[in-house]
Amino acid sequence: MANVKMDEWLNGRLDKTKESGLHRQLKTMHSAPCSKVVINGRNQLVFSSNNYLGLANDERLVYAAETILHEFGVGSSGSRLTTGHTEWHQKLENKIAAFKQTEAALLFSSGYLANVGVLSSLPEKGDVVFSDQLNHASIIDGCRLSRADTIIYNHVDMKDLEEKLKDSDSYRRRFIVTDGVFSMDGTIAPLDQIMTLARSYGAFVIVDDAHATGVLGENGRGTSEYFGVSPDIVIGTLSKAVGAEGGFVAGSRVLIDFLLNHARTFIFQTAIPPSICAAAYAAFEIIEHSKEKRRLLLSRIKQIKNSLEKMGYTVKGDDTPIIPVIIGDTYKAVAFASRLQEEGIYAPAIRPPTVAIGESRIRLTVTADHSLKEIDHLLSSFHLIGKELNVISEAALL
Ligand SMILES: *Cc1c(COP(=O)(O)O)cnc(C)c1O
Repeated sequence: MANVKMDEWLNGRLDKTKESGLHRQLKTMHSAPCSKVVINGRNQLVFSSNNYLGLANDERLVYAAETILHEFGVGSSGSRLTTGHTEWHQKLENKIAAFKQTEAALLFSSGYLANVGVLSSLPEKGDVVFSDQLNHASIIDGCRLSRADTIIYNHVDMKDLEEKLKDSDSYRRRFIVTDGVFSMDGTIAPLDQIMTLARSYGAFVIVDDAHATGVLGENGRGTSEYFGVSPDIVIGTLSKAVGAEGGFVAGSRVLIDFLLNHARTFIFQTAIPPSICAAAYAAFEIIEHSKEKRRLLLSRIKQIKNSLEKMGYTVKGDDTPIIPVIIGDTYKAVAFASRLQEEGIYAPAIRPPTVAIGESRIRLTVTADHSLKEIDHLLSSFHLIGKELNVISEAALL
């Protein structure tokens, strides 16, 4: 039974969401997360998944999960500190620590909860957290729950960060928190410069490597490997390139012991299922030997970016699987996305307030599983629609 009063009130609030063009709805997928799927009954090439190495539907992960599923059952039935901790949680944590080259690691139920757990427990009252303007929502929420102050610095602006660090003498401890790869702009955080600033101002560095784990660096270890630096705390997710589910924190043994005792999103959460741990474990074994796939992914990224730029598009970000193509006007970006769907391509329009006004965009992501033929179709669709909607010139070459 619906409560009419409550529904009236909520409808009023939803009307405002709709008026600003930001009402969201679910899209039903009818197959595994590969590059070709059926969405809402229509065949689509997906250029928006986080399955960067194609592992989410890899047979080896399915087999690993299935075997342990039969042995351990479906749910873990308890928090890690009660009855939810199995040998597979331990094996996976050891694996993550070895992969990230840290002393230890701790699993959380998601990357979201890992960020919230770290930021709400570690910085204390009287401390300050410097947070990049474009950091992920889970970092923002973690900062909100923290008793420390938060100071936002301009996106990857090291001058601004330094000025703010200079001004922070009244605080006891300083933390700098940043995404490794930014999810809407595809920028790589300048972690080498952040580390240098952190060392000269005595700050601790927390990096959220959700989009970089498995992707950046020679062995896919992430932003740290890419720059050859060792931040104090590395956070990540098992749900993107790793192809499974869950989150983690990697760092010193003492840090992990502290989080196990103080991070509320760890303590008061049921452990992820052992079968999922086994799948993620298998994924890390594959990632360690996926140099070729990473090279292939990078060449696909470069091909798409170069071709779009040649057509006259403004493409943001560094060479990461996240490729934001600027359309500008909000309504044009929405029209562009729906024309793409008609051409059989699924990639969402990202609008304000997620991005700045005038910077509405199509956010493409590419995976190592996209074939050259699929990329050709993507590029010819961008050529066609861009001319139709006057985003690129009539004379633009394909
Ligand atoms: C996806 C993402 C997360 C959240 O990870 P989940 O495991 O999906 O909860 C956190 N931070 C960043 C930067 C992300 O892109």
